[in-house]
Amino acid sequence: MTADAGDPLGWVAEELERLDAEGLRRPTRVCRTLPGGRVEIDGRELWNFGSNDYLGLAASPLSPDREEGAVLTGAGDSPPDSVADGCERPLPYGRASALPCGATASPAVVGRSPEVAELERTIAEFEGTEDAVVFPTGYAANLGTVSALTGPGDAVFLERDCHACLVDGARLGGGRLRVWRRGPGWAGGLPKLERELQKAADARRRWIVTDAVFSMDGDAVPLPGLLELARRYDAAIVMDEAHATGVCGRGGRGWWEACGTEVEDAPPTDPRVIRTGTLSKAVGAAGGFVSGSQSLCDYLRHTAKSHIFSTALPPAVAAAGTANLRWIASPAGAAARERLERTGTRLTRALRDAFGVDRLPGTEGCPIVPLLCGDPNAAVRASAALAEAGFFVPAIRPPTVPRGTSRLRVSLSAAHPDEAVDDLANALIHLLKDAA
Ligand code: PMP
Repeated sequence: MTADAGDPLGWVAEELERLDAEGLRRPTRVCRTLPGGRVEIDGRELWNFGSNDYLGLAASPLSPDREEGAVLTGAGDSPPDSVADGCERPLPYGRASALPCGATASPAVVGRSPEVAELERTIAEFEGTEDAVVFPTGYAANLGTVSALTGPGDAVFLERDCHACLVDGARLGGGRLRVWRRGPGWAGGLPKLERELQKAADARRRWIVTDAVFSMDGDAVPLPGLLELARRYDAAIVMDEAHATGVCGRGGRGWWEACGTEVEDAPPTDPRVIRTGTLSKAVGAAGGFVSGSQSLCDYLRHTAKSHIFSTALPPAVAAAGTANLRWIASPAGAAARERLERTGTRLTRALRDAFGVDRLPGTEGCPIVPLLCGDPNAAVRASAALAEAGFFVPAIRPPTVPRGTSRLRVSLSAAHPDEAVDDLANALIHLLKDAA
């Protein structure tokens, strides 16, 4: 079919047909998150192994803040018997339904709402930094931060698989972009980055930009080695903790905290590392953030365009973020994290026993468990068969992952009962061994 000469957008339909033919067209589903690790997709209820709701907070209702002052430490002073028991989080400012769902204008024009101001204070306290800036989304936080900090004359070293918003931020910034790969293993890839850093000695500034935990691979960046290079070559690191906040580290503060014992200066004292994150994954709300020094945060409030020119986070969402972060830092949050890690280890081991380590490149204990299929159509068929068996596991295809590496991406939640995870492992083994 060729485009109609009178239709300037005829090529759009042709592009969609091409995506269809290559197995890359994505379904436009209606998906309702349910409590307990379940989801309703197009009217059908399934186990949800496709969300980033790692702690099961997204669909778990917040309770009104009944006791003044109780909110500061979060609910649950002792570990819960089950995740559902331990999920009670008091909502600051009372009921979510009583809080505005609109923020009316950009914070640069009307200022921050009290709920966003409290969220920023809570994030700074959580991260152990002087201040934090909240953006409408994690995408906006990375886009705004990287584009505001980097500029012409700078060298920006992007990890190959880092998230699109970091790449877009670097492009907008206008620095010279270089791609590096973390490579397999803890230190893999760093020698190549070092050579690139050596070549950029004359750059105005050097920036190493990376995800902390890689969303499609379930592995983490070798932070101690990276920090050593950053110190040696006078570079700064922008690290996106999107999949690590709430999941990694004893207090759930992310990969930076998890690496704390291996990094010479205890966190969070190194001004070379600028940490960004999102409240939309383990935190179970929405919004993005940057944490750091007072001057960094003030600078970003004045220069990050996605902050200045976008309406702020709605107060109701900001209050949910605050309540959930406090829960994450509480003993109940720590218990949920431990449970998540145990589940991740069990699933990865079971699948590696069946399929071999080459098809499961992730890291034991990580809640992101990728199972490589190679061909996009094979991944889509496997995902459809799993849905028939009662499990939602999305097929991940290019451009989200490189060609030839289409996969199933299992993401675990502390809300999943053990039996559901074991049933999923059995279904995967049964369906994919049969398909081979
Ligand atoms: N960074 C990473 C690594 C992500 O995976 C995502 C979401 N897919 C984002 C940033 C964007 O976060 P948000 O969804 O809050 O915009």
